[in-house]
Amino acid sequence: MAFDLVIRGPDVATPGHRETTDIGIDGGRIAQIGGTMTGAEEIAASGLLAIPAGIDAHTHLVHQGLASLFESKVWVDDFWSGSRAAIAGGITTIGNMTFPAPQPDGTEESPRAAISREMAGAAAEAAVDWFLHPVLYEPAALPDGAIADLAGAGHASIKIFLSDPGLSADEPALLSAASAAKDAGAVMLLHCEDGALLEAAGHELVAAGRGAIANFADARPVAAEAAAVETAIGIARRTGAAVYIVHLSSAAALDRCRRARAAGLPVYVETRPLYLHLTKERFAEPDAAKYTGAPPLREASDREALWAGLAAGDVDTVCSDHAPWTLADKLDPALDVVTARQGVADLETLMPMLYSEGVAAGRISLDRFVELTSANAARIFGLYPRKGVIAAGADADIALWDPGHQRTVDGARMQSLAGYSVYDGWTVRGWPRLVLRRGQVVLADGEITARPGDGRWLRRAGTPPA
Ligand SMILES: [Zn+2]
Repeated sequence: MAFDLVIRGPDVATPGHRETTDIGIDGGRIAQIGGTMTGAEEIAASGLLAIPAGIDAHTHLVHQGLASLFESKVWVDDFWSGSRAAIAGGITTIGNMTFPAPQPDGTEESPRAAISREMAGAAAEAAVDWFLHPVLYEPAALPDGAIADLAGAGHASIKIFLSDPGLSADEPALLSAASAAKDAGAVMLLHCEDGALLEAAGHELVAAGRGAIANFADARPVAAEAAAVETAIGIARRTGAAVYIVHLSSAAALDRCRRARAAGLPVYVETRPLYLHLTKERFAEPDAAKYTGAPPLREASDREALWAGLAAGDVDTVCSDHAPWTLADKLDPALDVVTARQGVADLETLMPMLYSEGVAAGRISLDRFVELTSANAARIFGLYPRKGVIAAGADADIALWDPGHQRTVDGARMQSLAGYSVYDGWTVRGWPRLVLRRGQVVLADGEITARPGDGRWLRRAGTPPA
C-alpha cells in the first residue's frame, strides 16, 4: 500500500501491545501497522519508541482575550505557548479548565458563555487538539438542564472545587449536579480538599503569626484531602456518577479510592508530577513559594504510595495541572499560606520526568507509562480509540521517543512563559525526538513546527466510561 507517511522500524508500545514494525499514516490517521507499505514520505525510526502522544486532561491555559477580564494576575501561558510546551514534551491533546470570567456588571459568566468565549480563544491559538472542562462555581444556581446542555454541545465533563467552603457544605447542590452529570454521561472532576477544614487551618496559622509559605503544607492538611475524597466517593456511591479526582496527593486519599474502586464505584484517580518528584521538605527552602500547589507537597511516604499506585493501576492518569506563573509572581513576598499563587508549569516536563523517574528508574513499566499518559485519559474522557492508541483508524498522534536521550532541565530555555521549572537542574533521560499530531510533524529534533490555530476541538458527546 502507498501512504502519505511511513514510520520505519520503531519499537511500537501501545496499550497491551509491543512490536517492532512499520506504521503507515494516511489522511492524518493511522492506516496500517506492519506489512508491506511505501510512503510519499518516510521517517527512519529504528531505535526509537513509538508511543501514543500524550493526553494531558488537566491544564490551565488562558487565551489572550481572557487575561484582561481579570483584575488580579492569571496564569501566563495562552493556548499557543501552552501548545508549544505540550508538543515539546510529547503531548498533542489537552483538556483545559474553563473558568467563568467576571462580567462588567459584577456578575459571573454562565458556563455556556464561558465555553463559547474559550472555544473562540483556543481555536485561534491552539496547536494541540483540545477539549474543555466547564468549571461550575455555583452548581446550585445553574438553570435546569445546564449540565445536559453542556454535554449535548460536546463538553461532557464538569469541574467542581470541593475546596470552596460554600460548596463543600452544599450537599444537595453537589448531588443534583452529580445526578445530572450521570444522566448526561458526563464525568465530574473534583478538586478534593475540604473547604471548611482548609479555611480553619489557614486562618489559624495566619492568626498565630505562622502565615509564611514555609508552613504551606500545614495550611492544607492530609485530613482535608481525605475528607473531601470521602465526599467524592459518597457522591459516586449515591448517584452512580463517574467522579474523577484531580491531582490526588496523599497515601490516605489513595487508600480510600482503592477501596471504593474495589467495591466497584466509578472513581477515577489523577495525580500530578509534583507529588511524584518532590516532597514537603522543599517548603523549608528560601524560595518555598516556588513549589506551592494545592494540595501541597507531602511526605516521602505519600510519594512512594503514589508510585506504587501508578505501578498497580490504582492511579489512572498523570496530568500536569499546568498552571504557570513567573518566578517573580510566585515569590511575591506579600503572599502567605492562604494567598499563595498555586500551580507550576509542567506540560513540557510531565512525560520526560515520568519516563525518567518511572520507566528508566524501574518503578513502572513502559505499558503503564502509556496507559497513564494517554490511553486512560482517552478512555475516561470519551476519546478512545480515536486517541490514546497506535492502531489502524486512530488519529496519528505519535511521539517517537528517544529513551536514551539525556537532558538537564532548564526552564529558562523551555516553551512555557513561566521561564523556570521546579525541576531546574534535574537530569532527565527519555525525551521525544519527533512528534506527530494527526500525521503532521509538530516537533522535529527540538524544533516546534506547528502553527497557532492548527489544533482542533474534540467533541465529547457524553460517553460514560464502562
Ligand atoms: Zn487545576
